[in-house]
Amino acid sequence: MGGRLPLVVGNWKMNGTRVTNVELLAALRAAGPFDAEVSVCCPFPYLTDVALSLQGSGIGWGAQDCSQHELGAYTGEVAAAMLAEFGCRHVIVGHSERRLHHAESDTLVADKARLALAHGLTPIVCVGETRAERDGGSTEAVVKRQLSAVIHTLGHCVSQIVVAYEPIWAIGTGLTATPSQAQAVHSVLRGQLAAASTRASEMRLLYGGSVNAGNAQELFAQPDIDGALVGGASLRAADFSAICRAASHVALGSTGKSRT
Ligand code: PEP
Repeated sequence: MGGRLPLVVGNWKMNGTRVTNVELLAALRAAGPFDAEVSVCCPFPYLTDVALSLQGSGIGWGAQDCSQHELGAYTGEVAAAMLAEFGCRHVIVGHSERRLHHAESDTLVADKARLALAHGLTPIVCVGETRAERDGGSTEAVVKRQLSAVIHTLGHCVSQIVVAYEPIWAIGTGLTATPSQAQAVHSVLRGQLAAASTRASEMRLLYGGSVNAGNAQELFAQPDIDGALVGGASLRAADFSAICRAASHVALGSTGKSRT
């Protein structure tokens, strides 16, 4: 099969203003086009602005969450169907901040992924362990449990999702998993996906956790790391563009990485 097109997704979290967003996206647009797929997941109220800023650039946009319900009396929730109306390409589900602050369970995350797919969005399903879980030797068991709920719900359609491995201890902390630590988990995840889908080798597995312009290239050189989910650095156009360029080098084959 051909190589996997690297994917870099910005997760703005609850940051930005209408004015700064326009500046950030203009700078990102100017830095492109990229030879990797690039997407920006913004807060819900900014979707229209972001779509207007990015239209025609090749850069996609998306959201950071969606409801596990189709539609109805769920005050404060946003449906996957609504995100589709705004041209979203991606939606992040199961980010550790949602699992932690909103008590999202593995099965709830799986339901969100199912609805996202049903509405033509690509869910970026986040999995990852805490520091205590890593220190206790249960990293593999934790990420497998989280992914297994999604596989159970989606069956062979799991091949349509993107998985983001985000060790919680590396998110927003400046601590990055070493390329070999990240690769070890990615390899486990791809093996688990291979047992569920014949298309596992085509799936993109992203790493997230303090990715920056300095460490992206080494991470992307790993055989099972197909891009990044980027938090803090996605708020700075120069840094995010540099990460997108690092992914583009992989796409162009100039790193020597085999992507088959
Ligand atoms: C994230 O929030 O998904 C993330 C990876 O954040 P950061 O890059 O800031 O660690």
